[in-house]
Amino acid sequence: MEQSRNKNKTKTKIVCTLGPSTNSLSQVKALIENGMSVARLNLSHGTIDDHKNSANLVRTASKDLNQPVGIMVDIPGKKYRTGDTKPKDIDVKLHSHLRLTSADVIGSAEIIPVKPPGIHLDAKPGKIISIADGLVKVKVLEVSGKEVICEAITPGSISQGRGVNVAGIIPTGDFLNETTDIAIRFAVEHNADFIAISSVGSASHVESVKEQLSKHDINPAIISKIETAEGIRQFKSILGVSDGIMVARGDMGVEIDLSEVPTTQKQLIRASNIAGKPVITATQMLESMISSPSPTRAEVTDVANAVFDGSDAIMLSGETSIGKYPVESVAMMSKVALEAEKALPYESILVEKRAHMEHQTDDAIAYNSCQTAYQLNADLIVAFTESGSTAARVSKYRPRSEILALTPSLETQRRLTLIWGVTPVTTLPVKDVNDFFRIVKEESNKSPAINSDGLVVLVAGLPIGVPGGTNMLRVMSV
Ligand code: PEP
Repeated sequence: MEQSRNKNKTKTKIVCTLGPSTNSLSQVKALIENGMSVARLNLSHGTIDDHKNSANLVRTASKDLNQPVGIMVDIPGKKYRTGDTKPKDIDVKLHSHLRLTSADVIGSAEIIPVKPPGIHLDAKPGKIISIADGLVKVKVLEVSGKEVICEAITPGSISQGRGVNVAGIIPTGDFLNETTDIAIRFAVEHNADFIAISSVGSASHVESVKEQLSKHDINPAIISKIETAEGIRQFKSILGVSDGIMVARGDMGVEIDLSEVPTTQKQLIRASNIAGKPVITATQMLESMISSPSPTRAEVTDVANAVFDGSDAIMLSGETSIGKYPVESVAMMSKVALEAEKALPYESILVEKRAHMEHQTDDAIAYNSCQTAYQLNADLIVAFTESGSTAARVSKYRPRSEILALTPSLETQRRLTLIWGVTPVTTLPVKDVNDFFRIVKEESNKSPAINSDGLVVLVAGLPIGVPGGTNMLRVMSV
């Protein structure tokens, strides 16, 4: 089956978190058909068997629809989360007393386990603890053994796997632990295309995950989730060792003052754009769609603003994992992003990005392919790419024309599912230069972006097949 090329696909990639609401083949297919490019498996929630099922569904749906879909395994970092309780949802009333415990117990309305163990070492009387991204707040009254006795100051509902943050405190313990080991093993077994690391606070955290991965035969892109004050402070060095960034606004909103989240979002996106690394804006983008078929005006404006800020990708969490309207959520996100993309000032973006051009051949070629495509109103920029870096460099300059990435590698195709503006397509390996131009013509003509002029700008590295050497720019009529 031919890979279907949808004219209405967003340039901004959409990441959907899978969960109980999206655990059937038909639902995963519907997510893909409505705009999902990357499926996120959040190992902070659910069981390994649940995630195994989700990974298999994604690979099957992707094959059936002949649409590349990346798999992102999100591994828990050094972050406290609520453990299992009976009943599953605990209603916390204002001024009620509640015990958080490091002990390995099944919780109840009175006592809630917090994992990994250590909350009793970090909580001090008078400190405020936020649960579920600040939905519930408790004040510490006393610490007794492994228990932290608290009073609820913001009431609400708590379920299993929700984040528990002691304001301004980095959780006790090693960054890599038994939970992260299990998650990394899962990512390796399922050949994850992306690994998102929670609560990254330093470049050494990223390096420690990379070191673990180097023992295995897999090469996923490493996405650092920036969600703590320390992560924001160390951002420059974290960005330097990461393949991409997630602006994880959920935890960020309790780790720093909520009022600082929008400016931090803009700063992190801008720095990632300059570095040419993909950046995902995440959390509560269409939150009300968890229980309602239509979003608020503020939410759709947030999605559009994330596009205007320069996000490569935008993410759905609860909306697609536990919400009542997962497919409607991704359809709504696509619609809003498409509309925002029409309003992007492509010419002035290109002028502004000139200032950050790197003094090297591949960057010069990438920039000039966008400039040429804009000037000639070309239908496509075709990037021949082994490792994906040529297409990613073109994407850095945010061309108005679609970027058609042709690659012989399935792995590269899936890694490009997160890169703004890129349609990744696999081709047979190229035999010689004539074969190369023939493939470009053939694949370009399958694109709905091609109109009667059939003008494309081609970027590649010659000799073909050697990764990392983009040195050719050609304008072709196909
Ligand atoms: C976040 O906190 O915004 C986030 C994306 O992380 P998680 O969903 O793992 O809490």
